[in-house]
Amino acid sequence: MAKKTEKKGYYTAEIIQKFKDALSAARARIAAGEIVHVSISHGNTKTGPVASVSLLPFATCPAICRNTCGPLCYAAKLANLRPSVLAAWAMNTAILMDRPAQFWEEVNAAISAVRYFRYHVAGDIPTPAYLANMIRSAQNHPQTEILAFTKRFDFVNAALTVAPLPANLHILFSGWTNLKPENPHNLPETNVYSKGSAPEESWKQCGGNCFSCACRGVGCWTACPGDTIAFEIH
Ligand code: SF4
Repeated sequence: MAKKTEKKGYYTAEIIQKFKDALSAARARIAAGEIVHVSISHGNTKTGPVASVSLLPFATCPAICRNTCGPLCYAAKLANLRPSVLAAWAMNTAILMDRPAQFWEEVNAAISAVRYFRYHVAGDIPTPAYLANMIRSAQNHPQTEILAFTKRFDFVNAALTVAPLPANLHILFSGWTNLKPENPHNLPETNVYSKGSAPEESWKQCGGNCFSCACRGVGCWTACPGDTIAFEIH
């Protein structure tokens, strides 16, 4: 079974169903009145000690991930392998859907307690209303630098026609080998290159540890219009 999954990538009907089932199970616990909480990660080898909140991959990602990052999605790989990770991301998504006030209360509490915060080590901005809450939260917590990568170009572009993003909310448009972001407001971007090949000359390579980048004032935290941060894909 593992061999089959690797060959087809992670955007398979089987894995998508597994994630849907995890979400249904989480929503059933909420419907039964169970006391549950948003799971905030306090870092991993990639982010360093940067707090983050994640949502279910695929369920909250735009349809374009099917033909771009989806088959190679490291978050889907992790959720598929680790039931506790899948359960946490499914519960976060369920709380967002069924108790949105609680979701934002707990995310805001986490943001207020840290200097650096990342959205969506897994998942993406699910709705324009969610993006509006991200913006409001950044405005209310100017002491916290907040980072998010997204393929929801349409949501962000629409918000940018109304007002600029708060200075502490760093949103980067996430491209792919076959995907050039719609980027009329010239936000910084990310893109990928294959292991063994070189990124485009103008791209800046990912430093590998978000906390280290934050402390040094480099990487995505300070990316400017026209910058592209490059990630190696395996
Ligand atoms: S370049 Fe960006 S994604 Fe890479 S480690 Fe630095 S802040 Fe994180």
